[in-house]
Amino acid sequence: MNDDADDANDADHERARRRLVADLRGRLDVDERTLAAIEAVPRHAFLPERHRSQAYADRPLPIGHDQTISAPHMVAMMTDLLDLEPGDRVFEVGTGCGYHAAVVAEIVGGENVYSAEYVPELAEAARERLHRLGYDVTVHAGDAREAFRDADPFDAAYLTCAPEGDVPDSILERVRIGGRVVAPVGSLGGQRLVRLDLRADGIDRTDHGGVRFVPMR
Ligand code: SAH
Repeated sequence: MNDDADDANDADHERARRRLVADLRGRLDVDERTLAAIEAVPRHAFLPERHRSQAYADRPLPIGHDQTISAPHMVAMMTDLLDLEPGDRVFEVGTGCGYHAAVVAEIVGGENVYSAEYVPELAEAARERLHRLGYDVTVHAGDAREAFRDADPFDAAYLTCAPEGDVPDSILERVRIGGRVVAPVGSLGGQRLVRLDLRADGIDRTDHGGVRFVPMR
C-alpha cells in the first residue's frame, strides 16, 4: 500500500472514532476524561486486519484464541467506574489485545498499568503492540492469580474475564485499602458487573447490571 492510501485510512479511522465518542457521550453517564481516553486510542490498531473496518462500531470483536475485545461502551463504563487519577497504579486481569490497557494508560500513564494475560501468544502480541504504539504497559504472560506478587499494592484492579464465583482473593489482596475493583462475576448467562470498594472493615459492593464476558480460567 502507498502512503497516500495509508493517510486516507488514518483519516477515515479518526473520523469514525470521533463519531463513536460523540455517540457514547450521548448514551453514557461517564466522565469527559474517560471519553478523551477512548478518543485517544486507535482501536483499529489492536484488531486483526479483517476486523479493522468494524473498529469504531460499538460492539465486541474476535481477537483470536476464542477471546474478544470488549465493546467500546463497556470499556468506557468499566474505566469510569474505577475513578482513576493520573498516577494511580492499576492491575488488569486479561490483557487480550491490549486495547483496554491502552485506554487506562491514557489516564494513569502506561508505566502505571500492569496487566496479566493467560494465553502466551496474546500476551506477547499485546506487549509488542502496546510498546510500538507508545504505551509503556507491563504485560505478564500467565495466570493473573500468580502475577505481580512482589509489586506494591495497586490503587485499582479490573477483570476483563468473569470468575464463576466472586473475584478471587488472590486479586483482591493485590489492592490497597481504599482501592477499587471492577469485574464481571458469575457464570455465562448470569454475569453481573460489580464495583468493590475495599474498606478497612469490609467491602462495599455496587451492582452495575448484566454483562457477558469470557470466563476466567
Ligand atoms: N481487555 C481485553 C479483553 C480481553 S478478553 C482487550 O481490551 O482486548 C479477556 C482475556 O482474559 C482473554 O484474553 C483471556 O485469555 C484472559 N484470561 C482469562 N483468564 C485469565 C487468567 N486467569 N489470568 C489472566 N488472563 C486471563
